[in-house]
Amino acid sequence: MYDKNNVFAKIVRGEIPTNKICENAYALSFYDVNPVAKTHVLIIPKGEYENMFDFLHNASTDEHAAFWDCVKDTAHKMKCDDACNLIANVGRGTFFYQSVPHFHLHIIAGEKLQDFADMAQ
Ligand code: AMP
Repeated sequence: MYDKNNVFAKIVRGEIPTNKICENAYALSFYDVNPVAKTHVLIIPKGEYENMFDFLHNASTDEHAAFWDCVKDTAHKMKCDDACNLIANVGRGTFFYQSVPHFHLHIIAGEKLQDFADMAQ
């Protein structure tokens, strides 16, 4: 069951301010508050999807297209579409876990500031 009180749902509803990078009808991207590298941004769908597989199973064709457009535009704007890491944590995985129950894709690039594993503790 999707938790409407998660922090990214509040960002989508405009209840919490954030530094937006790109936005379209169904997706938006913004800076991670606790960056692990010089470039660390997040892309989220505006729809209520708990994790990546919920999104893959249930989002509409337009939502899928808009999400990947936002990924492409964000990486281009951050000048990291030639070298970056794309990470989507789902539940409690082997190394990392998903701390916010709203699907998000991390784009991480450039100089490392801290270990991703440390951040997830
Ligand atoms: P994950 O561990 O994959 O669920 O990643 C959640 C990410 O959300 C972490 O990297 C947090 O630093 C980030 N985060 C949490 N709250 C906010 C917020 N209000 N604005 C931007 N990023 C956030």
